[in-house]
Amino acid sequence: MSEKTREPNALAAIHQWLAEREHQAAQLLAQMTRCRSVQGQETEIQQLLAAQLERLGMEVDLWEPDGEELSSHPLFASPRTDFAGSPNLAAKLPGSGGGRSFLLNGHIDVVPVGDPEQWTQDPWGGNLVEGRLYGRGASDMKGGVAASLLALQALQGCGIRLAGDVIFESVMEEESGGAGTLAASLRGYRADAGLIPEPTGLAVFPKQQGSLWFRLTVHGRGAHGGSRYEGVSAIEKAMGVVAAVLELEKERNSRITDPLYAATPIPVPINLGVIGGGEWPSSVPDRVALEGRMGVAPDETIQNAQAQMSRAISKLGQKDGWLAEHPVELEWFGARWLPCSLDPESELVRMLVEVVEEVRGESPAMVAAPWGTDAGLLGAAAGVPTVVFGPGVVATAHQPDEYVLLEDVMTAAEVIALMLLRWCGRG
Ligand SMILES: [Zn+2]
Repeated sequence: MSEKTREPNALAAIHQWLAEREHQAAQLLAQMTRCRSVQGQETEIQQLLAAQLERLGMEVDLWEPDGEELSSHPLFASPRTDFAGSPNLAAKLPGSGGGRSFLLNGHIDVVPVGDPEQWTQDPWGGNLVEGRLYGRGASDMKGGVAASLLALQALQGCGIRLAGDVIFESVMEEESGGAGTLAASLRGYRADAGLIPEPTGLAVFPKQQGSLWFRLTVHGRGAHGGSRYEGVSAIEKAMGVVAAVLELEKERNSRITDPLYAATPIPVPINLGVIGGGEWPSSVPDRVALEGRMGVAPDETIQNAQAQMSRAISKLGQKDGWLAEHPVELEWFGARWLPCSLDPESELVRMLVEVVEEVRGESPAMVAAPWGTDAGLLGAAAGVPTVVFGPGVVATAHQPDEYVLLEDVMTAAEVIALMLLRWCGRG
């Protein structure tokens, strides 16, 4: 029997298998949500997932990356170099041969809960209320990781073997720059294409902006406030720096014409997130530090974005003698997410769109993501062209009462299962 005539049956079987296991899926996701996998505490959830993957007969690899070795890599960007308590997990499902390989990547680190008073649900409870499964990380992105796992379970449950290999990566550290995905890539895990089920609300993200953190230090000269004219206020100088940053943001965004950004007011924002300076109301401040996040367009290089910021800051000295003599210092520090861009007409993106249409009966929205994912890193470190599509409500990620719709997790699982079947071929 040819693949084409067999596939409609496979599709119906996968749909049926998943539809009968919604309760089981909710339990799995609730169990995952109860693992408090903030940075440095990812062991419990990785062990839980490792056991699930072993049950599928996959070759499971659970390891704590060597921070020293990792941090010497040019693509490394993380606030820490010790990954004790933060194991990475990868597993391989070997195909029967002759098919293309596919990689499913998802992160299981979550951001902190924040003020627990602002939650009406238990952030670590995994409670299911009216179809919403609540908890920190439910949307970003344990729902997506669960969907990937369910997809593999569904294929196996339906007795479907694939021709190509599937790699499943459950990584740590995405929220601080992707050291987990870098470590998995350096360990040799790669495939012909990949998918990250980050919370896109079931939209397809062929492109994502990158971002990087910067610090601007503005120098002044201290004096008594009663004779402030003898000093130079770093706060006043910083106002000019803020204006220059906003001007640069405007300039950079005026050049973006990609239709995928048509509905986005500022496609690649530069956000100033932290300001600090001065010590005393009656003193002229001699130092102000500004910290921010610079968006990098999907088709742009990190180096290009850095060079533009650097030029904008050094130009300040042309209009201001003080700044010419006491230049504003620019540092790039901490986290960084590489941009990622796939041609919306590429086979990977087209195939995903078709599969979503088949499963949902309507075309998915196609969006350029306003935030970075590990897709850029998968491309740069492992050469895996990666698309982003998954369940989850972006608006609740990193917020109190984060939740994911269980129905969307099931839909994503079906899409992923079918995608694996199409891409890897039936064995
Ligand atoms: Zn995420």
